[in-house]
Amino acid sequence: MLNVPSQSFPAPRSQQRVASGGRSKVPLKQGRSLMDWIRLTKSGKDLTGLKGRLIEVTEEELKKHNKKDDCWICIRGFVYNVSPYMEYHPGGEDELMRAAGSDGTELFDQVHRWVNYESMLKECLVGRMAIKPAVLKDYREEENKVLNGMLPKSQVTDTLAKEGPSYPSYDWFQTNSLVTIAIYTKQKDINLDSIIVDHQDDSFRAETIIKDFLYLIHIGLSHEVQEDFSVRVVESVGKIEIVLKKKENTSWDFLGHPLENHNSLIPRKDAGTEIVKPYTPVSGSLLSEFKEPVLPNNKYIYFLIKIYHTGLFTPELDRLQIGDFVSVSSPEGNFKISKFQELEDLFLLAAGTGFTPMVKILNYALTDIPSLRKVKLMFFNKTEDDIIWRSQLEKLAFKDKRLDVEFVLSAPVSEWNGKQGHISPALLSEFLKRNLDKSKVLVCICGPVPFTEQGVRLLQDLNFSKNEIHSFTA
Ligand code: NAD
Repeated sequence: MLNVPSQSFPAPRSQQRVASGGRSKVPLKQGRSLMDWIRLTKSGKDLTGLKGRLIEVTEEELKKHNKKDDCWICIRGFVYNVSPYMEYHPGGEDELMRAAGSDGTELFDQVHRWVNYESMLKECLVGRMAIKPAVLKDYREEENKVLNGMLPKSQVTDTLAKEGPSYPSYDWFQTNSLVTIAIYTKQKDINLDSIIVDHQDDSFRAETIIKDFLYLIHIGLSHEVQEDFSVRVVESVGKIEIVLKKKENTSWDFLGHPLENHNSLIPRKDAGTEIVKPYTPVSGSLLSEFKEPVLPNNKYIYFLIKIYHTGLFTPELDRLQIGDFVSVSSPEGNFKISKFQELEDLFLLAAGTGFTPMVKILNYALTDIPSLRKVKLMFFNKTEDDIIWRSQLEKLAFKDKRLDVEFVLSAPVSEWNGKQGHISPALLSEFLKRNLDKSKVLVCICGPVPFTEQGVRLLQDLNFSKNEIHSFTA
């Protein structure tokens, strides 16, 4: 569990209080004030050298970064590359170097409990320390004990677990404002389609599909949390992180108490269950020369569907044969075509299959909006192979000079020389330049929930009004 930094600054017994004039400060070079540091962190410069990627850091890896120009320090489980900060550190470089390549938590607490180091070093965050196997201990061994002083193990599932996959476990940690629940599925092929998270008032429930089983966490939280939350998956290690936002920035002593079927592994009883999922219809192609296949009644709906092989729904779709039936509802949604009236600049931010609503928007915009001057699509994907309709997009941009397309990869191979990383202020502020100061603008955004939420926040920070943003949510 992470401890929350004390709000008392300097800490009661820190050297800053002990030495009457405060801890000795080293004269900083010109241009190295706190304001200069803040400016640098907001410049969009890659301060970690990892291009926005967060990694899991092993102890061996941490130890390697112990030089002034390559200095990583771990504070409360998070690893920071502090080399860019060296010259801005009021305590001097030598003080920072005492913790180079190691866990500096204790040293930091003794010397200068930075109240706000998390935000100060945000752009230097390399990632989290990899969890040691001891922490990942099988939950069944925890019988009648508590994990992190938190929850006793549920009794319901021992027999089932014996027949099932290796037993998952979970852990939690907190910062001042967030609580993260980490689920260790012990399966490498977990993805976002395998998780259902639900929380109402103080009851928190997360269901994870693991092979033919459901792993259930069900907790009455000890404190209130806000409605929105985010979920991320580290596929390579099968870890799921659910990040909840505290309503009040207080330290939690324990996560909560177990509710029915908490921490249990249950066989999936999905046979005969009706599954409903929204999909956005697309057109057959982005290019006008595409000819629709001629079939008897000439009625088609096109969908672009990504098959998540370990998911609940898409493998079923994948198994459908020609002649099988699926029920399709009437259309839903709140996008109004009137948003395009007099539109001059259209910006599209799409991630993964979040590209699908952009297909018809692109078709429509380029043929039916006379006032349109520019359409820019920024398309975020993990790898080049994931880019849907790449060659069609490139052809269309070549044919129609009003269209610009940029691909951004979050997990590219080293040869990729295009843009990299996740949605960020730096990427957006460069991309979202209006044609004219007062041109009529619309930004459409669609992708994984955390992507869309973060994008909308960034757009608001960049002073786009509510009317100028349309976010598609599944
Ligand atoms: P993915 O996992 O392949 O990720 C694509 C890109 O999204 C990544 O490269 C990254 O840039 C970004 N991304 C992913 N997780 C992020 C995070 N936590 N924070 C910031 N950026 C992140 O995406 P996918 O598997 O293709 O999933 C697409 C999502 O879009 C699905 O969740 C789907 O439900 C949603 N979607 C919604 C609609 C709609 O609302 N109408 C339509 C289509 C798709």
